[in-house]
Amino acid sequence: MATDNHTRGEHDYDVVVIGGGGAGLAAAVSAAERGASVILFESEGELGGSTALSAGLFTAAGTSVQKELGVEDSVDRYFQHYMDLNQWLLKPGLVRRFCELAGPTFEWMLELGLEVPAQISGNAHQPGLSRAGVEDVWRGHVPKDQGYGLVQVLDRARKAHGIDAVLHTRVERLLVVDDGGVSRVAGVVADGVELTAGAVVVATGGLAQNPELVERWFPDALRAGESLFVVAAEGSRGDHIAYGAQVGAGIAGDGWGLMLPTAEFVRHHHWQAGFPPPSRVHVNGQGLRFMDEDASYAVSGGLIDAQGGPTWMVFDEAARVALPDGYADWDAERVTALVDTGQVTRADDLVSLAAAIGVPADHLVATVERWNDQLPHGSDIDFQRDRTLAAKGVTAPLAPIAAAPFYATCVLPAELVCTHAGLEIDTSASVLDHGARPIPGLFAAGEAGGGVLGNRYVGGGNAIANALTIGRLAGQNAAAAAIRA
Ligand SMILES: Cc1cc2nc3c(=O)[nH]c(=O)nc-3n(C[C@H](O)[C@H](O)[C@H](O)COP(=O)(O)OP(=O)(O)OC[C@H]3O[C@@H](n4cnc5c(N)ncnc54)[C@H](O)[C@@H]3O)c2cc1C
Repeated sequence: MATDNHTRGEHDYDVVVIGGGGAGLAAAVSAAERGASVILFESEGELGGSTALSAGLFTAAGTSVQKELGVEDSVDRYFQHYMDLNQWLLKPGLVRRFCELAGPTFEWMLELGLEVPAQISGNAHQPGLSRAGVEDVWRGHVPKDQGYGLVQVLDRARKAHGIDAVLHTRVERLLVVDDGGVSRVAGVVADGVELTAGAVVVATGGLAQNPELVERWFPDALRAGESLFVVAAEGSRGDHIAYGAQVGAGIAGDGWGLMLPTAEFVRHHHWQAGFPPPSRVHVNGQGLRFMDEDASYAVSGGLIDAQGGPTWMVFDEAARVALPDGYADWDAERVTALVDTGQVTRADDLVSLAAAIGVPADHLVATVERWNDQLPHGSDIDFQRDRTLAAKGVTAPLAPIAAAPFYATCVLPAELVCTHAGLEIDTSASVLDHGARPIPGLFAAGEAGGGVLGNRYVGGGNAIANALTIGRLAGQNAAAAAIRA
């Protein structure tokens, strides 16, 4: 481990940051802005973690981008939506602090060079302001170059502050000292070397890449069985859980995380996988439609789970042949090939398709007829998908589901994106012990910090907003604690 030797008082560095994703970089930069000497450790060969893989969608209220577009929003409104969607299972004080700081953190990112044009965006791939989830006001900010763009902006700021980032170095454990009968975190151990610090920020991301920890902290993910696949970054090994055990930290977010619904044969995030055909209907075991097929991640997984059995995506031959080339999973020829493996069911008519997937034929026929009476005419009286499509900029009516043969494939929450079980934090991003007392010298943020990400994902943009907002807060408070120490 090669580091420059910065000293203040009795420690090597004021602040050690563990993890170089969004939360860690935001913490490192903000600690340096407060005058702290900072070093950052990253286990992988490059910075970025899941943040760099993400669309970079950032939810925040009352931003300059919203104002320029004439979108009225407020912290109160954001807070209310956040708490209601999460059924008030989160601590309101922490969530309010997060909602208050998300806007200023977004503005800070703009000052550092992030580009988010004041224009309406139809999806997470178009820079601008998008509809993030099921909120009543648009607050999903999509940056230029998406998550990679966020990381580049923060990394430039890191370099400008002269903060060392030590790559290929997985921090093994915290350095804990006894301070008059109280445990205090006083540094880290990496590559067998002890490095002392006034404060440590744990920003190691989630635990999605660690099967044992997924089983313990997010067992619902395993319901996907063999269809389960993980898109979180390789470094998401859940090291924060072991650090927490070292110091008796509480864990918030037990059992929660984000699973995206997908067809059972898909194995990649949609950027590589491609998208299912727009002309499709989702039906449950009764052959009945139960959701807007484009429903936000905020609710779609829950809707599928609530059916209590297999759910199906049904489409026709016209939809299959219209699939664009160049994608790994949603490819016309691949769909045909999957009929042989049984992951896609094909039949000459809807009655035979219903028999093959075990749903009542009269229900499936009536469901498709009703769908054809509505969506191809630009309306969706039952599930309001026309509104979702309009928010994505899709105004052309969908083609009917009418051309034989017909196809069905299971749709289920199988794509594991992020996990929410993190070291419990307070409104200063201090890690709390089992008695809800701050552990001196220890801060956490991002997926490694628990309490902001809840049982429901508040639209695309919730986790990036959490990583950067709480990361920045943790960096500021770690700097203050270290400089006082
Ligand atoms: C494909 C994809 C798309 C997504 N899209 C969005 C989106 O658009 N909007 C949104 O809100 N959320 C999105 N998310 C979720 C969001 O990206 C993450 O929740 C967020 O980026 C987590 O940030 P983080 O800093 O906590 O973790 P990360 O960005 O994963 O950073 C953690 C870093 O710590 C490193 N690390 C781990 N252990 C150690 C150790 N012991 N020592 C040193 N380093 C260590 C890791 O290698 C990693 O680089 C997406 C996620 C994925 C995977």
